[in-house]
This record gives sequence, C-alpha cells and structure tokens, in this order.
Amino acid sequence: MYLLENNVDQSKVLRTTTPNESVLNVTKSYLPNKKKYQAYIDRIFDSHSLTNRGPLSQELELRLAEYLGVKHLLLVSNGTMALHVAYRLLGLRGEVITSPFSFAATSSSLVWEKLKPIYTDICSKSFNLNPRNIVSSITERTSAIVPVHVFGNACAVDDISQIAKEHGLKVIYDAAHAFNVRGTSKSLFEYGDISTLSLHATKMFHTVEGGALVFNDADLYEQAKALINFGIDSTGTIAPLGINAKMSEFHAAMGLCVLDDIDIITEQRKKLVTQYRINFGGRLQLQLRNSDFTDNYAYLPVVFPNVVIRQAVESALGAESINPRRYFSPSLNEVYAPYQSMPNSQSLSERVLCLPLYPGLSKIDVLRVTNIIHRTLDRF
Ligand SMILES: *Cc1c(COP(=O)(O)O)cnc(C)c1O
Repeated sequence: MYLLENNVDQSKVLRTTTPNESVLNVTKSYLPNKKKYQAYIDRIFDSHSLTNRGPLSQELELRLAEYLGVKHLLLVSNGTMALHVAYRLLGLRGEVITSPFSFAATSSSLVWEKLKPIYTDICSKSFNLNPRNIVSSITERTSAIVPVHVFGNACAVDDISQIAKEHGLKVIYDAAHAFNVRGTSKSLFEYGDISTLSLHATKMFHTVEGGALVFNDADLYEQAKALINFGIDSTGTIAPLGINAKMSEFHAAMGLCVLDDIDIITEQRKKLVTQYRINFGGRLQLQLRNSDFTDNYAYLPVVFPNVVIRQAVESALGAESINPRRYFSPSLNEVYAPYQSMPNSQSLSERVLCLPLYPGLSKIDVLRVTNIIHRTLDRF
C-alpha cells in the first residue's frame, strides 16, 4: 500500500479503527436463523393469511401455552396493549395500587384508562412491592393491584393473593420480564386474575413487537378474544366495547423461530450471569431473588452504594462504548404522582444499572465490564 496520505478520508479511517463489535449495549435483540424465518414468510405468501388470528398466531399461542404450562394464553400486538385489555376486561375503576419501580407502561396504561395509580413503596432487596405497604394503601376506592415481577423476580404472590381475597380486589401482574418463571408445581402466571407479557424485541423471548395475556379463567379468555378483535365474537356478534390488538402473522413467525431457540437463549444467559457473579466477587448489591421460583436470567441489575459511584461507573463504562441502562429511572411516582414520596424506589432508581446481557456476549466481554467496575470502585 503506497497510496495513503493525501487522499485518505480520515473519517473512514476512524470508523474502521473503531469497529462496531466493541460496543456493548444493555441488550441485543435475538435474531433466529434467517432461512427458517424465510420459510415461514413463504408460508404467509402462499396462504395469503397476513393477520386476524391466522394459522401462525394460533400455532404460536398453542406452543407458548404448552411451553409455559398455562391453560389460556392470548397473543396481542404489544405488552402495553395487554395491560389496557386486562384493565378493561376486569372492569377496573378508581384507584389501582401499583409499583413505582417499573417501566413507564405499567403506569401510563392506568392513566390512559382514567385509573389513578396509587404507588406504594418497594422492598429495597427484592425491588418488588412490599405486601405490608399494599395493605396500608387500600381505600374504599381501590379496585385492583398491579404488581410487577420486576427483572423476572417473582412477587410475594401468596401474600398478594391473600390481600386481594380479603379486600375483594383484582390482581393483574405485569409479567413483562417474567417469561417462563416457574414455581415448584406451577407457572408464576397462574397467580392473580391475569398476567401480562411483553414480547418486544428487547425482551428475552420476542415477536419483534408483541404481547400476551395469560388467564386462569376460560370465560375471561373468550371475552378477551372478542375484545381485541373490535368486540366481535366467533358468532359475529358485536359487543359495545372493543379494540384492535391483534398480532400479525409476520410477528408470530418471528415468535415461532425464537421459541425454537429459547432453551439455548436461557442457558447462554445463565452462563453469563454466573460469570458476572463470579467476577463481582460479592462486591456489589444484587437483587434478592424469590427462591420459591426459578430465575429466567432476563436482566442483570446491580446496585451501587450511592449516586456518585453509579455515575462514575456509568461514565467509565461509557468511555469504553459499554452502555448499561438505568432500569428503572426515574421512579414512576416522580412522573405520575409527584406529591408522593417513595424512598426505597427513588433511592434504587438513583443507584441501579442494568449491565449488558444477551446471547452472543462473551466471557471476555463480561470481564471487560467487571474490570472497569472494579477499577472504578477502587477509586472510592
Ligand atoms: C416492556 C415492558 C412493558 C411494555 O411492553 P411493550 O411490549 O413494549 O408494550 C410493560 N411493562 C414492563 C415492566 C416492561 O418492561
């Protein structure tokens, strides 16, 4: 190479010397075998069935229900719509007790449905709602509890069932993070009236965009099927309430492909989480998991002692193109109920980072991340 010098575009040199591979984001959407996906797309082109509960959506529903060990599962267009549909089906009104430590959709869906989110503080170890705080927030206007199995950590489900029974409240679990979390004898989704899932591209199992509702009650499932199809039931009768929340066949095709690989995805995540834990050497606060349920290794939240250290770690990682995310910040009460103060949730929001975790991440990548964290902690 003697060309060089004058005609070299410096920006191109820069770009090639910083290959994209070195960027580590909090997640990287899983993509299945392209040929397999194309085979499903060929089926869609042959059948001309693009949406409206077509064969692929029905196949995915059956396979998911079987895989998760649940009776009634309904696919919808996204996880937020699953929450909206759940609130409408159960006829919620007035106040709904929910977690301030979650993604915005848990609360925005309540506000959109003209329901008032009543926050109650989380347990600073499990990051989930504290049952005792739920009880003290119940008023005569409360119609439901919307707890979140945050980062796939099962809530205190038995306590919550007991509280709901005593006070005549509905329970909708936002299980967006809890794909395939199981107890000793049953799925986590069998608790509460409805559990909602997000199958968004960033989630551990996904359909690009998508969501699902899991019901324990067959009637509720039948009503939901009509509700998400403009209120039109299988006989063609139109109910006064309906919406379009159907999943398309193209989305279902992605789900069918990803589902084939879900055990490998989970196994790879487990290996990475184990590696992170070994590298941390007990130096960082991790989420205290509910030991009655399995871990799905969906996220890796770590908690720093204070805001200054969290900021220092975030900028040290950022300088090396490693982009953790502040899941979840801000604490939702600051957005939707600024007059309420939630010390545990607000403190956690200030100090938490979710670290890169996805199939394809290597042990060397994990070591890069944990070395930077150790070096930063050494400065304090
Ligand atoms: C992702 C997520 C949702 C929303 O799901 P979408 O499929 O993106 O609409 C709801 N709740 C929680 C906790 C989430 O993380």
